[in-house]
Amino acid sequence: MSTAIPTARDVKLGPTRMLIGGEWVNAASGKTFETVNPATEELIARVPDADEADVNRAVAAARQAFDSGPWRKISGSERGRLMTRLADLIEAHKDELARLETLDNGKPLGDSLAADLPLTIACYRYYAGWADKLHGKTIPVNGPYFCYTRHEPVGVCAQIIPWNFPLLMQAWKLGPALAAGCTVVMKVAEQTPLSALRVGELIQEAGFPPGVVNILTGFGPTAGAPLARHMDVDKVAFTGSTEVGHLIMKYAAESNLKRVTLELGGKSPNIVFADTDLDAAAEGAHFALFFNQGQCCCAGSRLYVEDSIHDAFVARLVAKARARKVGDPFARDTQQGPQVDKTQFDKVMGYIEAGQRDGARLECGGGRVGGRGFFIEPTVFTGVDEQMKIGQEEIFGPVMSVIRFKTIDEVIQRANRTVYGLAAAVWTRDIEKALAIANGVRAGTVWVNCYDVFDAAAPFGGFKQSGIGRELGEYGLSNYLEVKTVTVKV
Ligand code: NAP
Ligand code: MG
Repeated sequence: MSTAIPTARDVKLGPTRMLIGGEWVNAASGKTFETVNPATEELIARVPDADEADVNRAVAAARQAFDSGPWRKISGSERGRLMTRLADLIEAHKDELARLETLDNGKPLGDSLAADLPLTIACYRYYAGWADKLHGKTIPVNGPYFCYTRHEPVGVCAQIIPWNFPLLMQAWKLGPALAAGCTVVMKVAEQTPLSALRVGELIQEAGFPPGVVNILTGFGPTAGAPLARHMDVDKVAFTGSTEVGHLIMKYAAESNLKRVTLELGGKSPNIVFADTDLDAAAEGAHFALFFNQGQCCCAGSRLYVEDSIHDAFVARLVAKARARKVGDPFARDTQQGPQVDKTQFDKVMGYIEAGQRDGARLECGGGRVGGRGFFIEPTVFTGVDEQMKIGQEEIFGPVMSVIRFKTIDEVIQRANRTVYGLAAAVWTRDIEKALAIANGVRAGTVWVNCYDVFDAAAPFGGFKQSGIGRELGEYGLSNYLEVKTVTVKV
């Protein structure tokens, strides 16, 4: 009997060209770049290296589809039907897409199947349901006038996405844009182009008109920047580093004041009180940090532990980190795969050195796993504070930083001592403490006795330098709509 466990060799690749105006094309320059399997450092495929010429072609296709294509005449219910069809197609191909995601990104196949694919499918379904429910209001104004509002699509949207959840970030962006009736030029991350291109094929199969969704492969400075600067783009939505977020705003300001939404980094506080269920909290804290190789914008990367339970709690954390199974992302028992690429691997290893240099105590991990692939040992530091580099900056890797605290006022103050404000969590049996944290922490999401609970209906996004605007839910949709006021003399 065959084991039926897929390996990297069983993965069907899908398209390796870009989707522009309904055609699969190479870059005008003919240039390509490599996408690499981070578990083996082997070449998977070469994809087009888009530059300004390709951006111009894609924006022209999206503009034409928005201004004069059939898309604008398609009813909301028909848009919803197309989106539901896309969700069904992704579901029908979920095993294939999960393998492709794991091959290109390195995340464990079990995670791709249990998290990325179901959340992706649910996101398209959720927004499909909104497509025929976009309506304005009638406004009782003074005088002999009939006044009403219309919610119209914002237009051509540039969407620039990262590599940590390629399929899911594509869904978070395309879902609301398509429901609203916008057209899109998406630039996918250079590390992980493949799953988005396969979805491009399914978008065609679902029957979306050509030019409604255009997908570019390429690099930030050469493809992302001209897209964010483009005069014919009405809105740019970006997910990635805070550093590039600043650039995106600048590009919008220097070009046409296109609308900007940003989903950026974080240094999220995860706060554990002594009265909590320690086993559940330790499991939650482990998951909050190590899930997806630590490559989550909302990772619980500042773990505040109340003084009286500190040592007992750290013992649990260290035992869990030591037991975490690192290895081949296609193996059934793997919990942690490689970091996405050499750059991220080196960056994370640099933070581990910085932690030691700044005087944090390395409780476990800290090294590379094996000699091939970008694997890092699950690492736990204690004795961290907010002045240290590892207590301040986004590490985006499997490195946990434990910080000791004594009082609730102290922990709220320290939790807010950051430029970020993406997420936070609290573990306690005391509702008063839970609500004090939920109210006191400046963050877009607060989880109480849980972590990383996502739903397409629940908004997600950042306070402060973690971003502008919200994704998901009705709030996410509103970023893709313009409000038009119509006043009629009667
Ligand atoms: P990044 O540079 O911000 O990449 C995100 C996306 O922006 C990618 O598609 C990237 O293209 C593009 N981009 C880069 N420079 C650009 C520019 N000048 N104009 C327009 N688009 C541009 O992030 P990264 O370098 O992959 O990762 C660096 C750090 O960012 C990570 O260590 C982590 O701290 C953070 N990060 C956060 C998230 C999140 O979910 N919030 C996701 C990923 C990374 P390329 O493909 O060429 O890079
Ligand atoms: Mg890759």
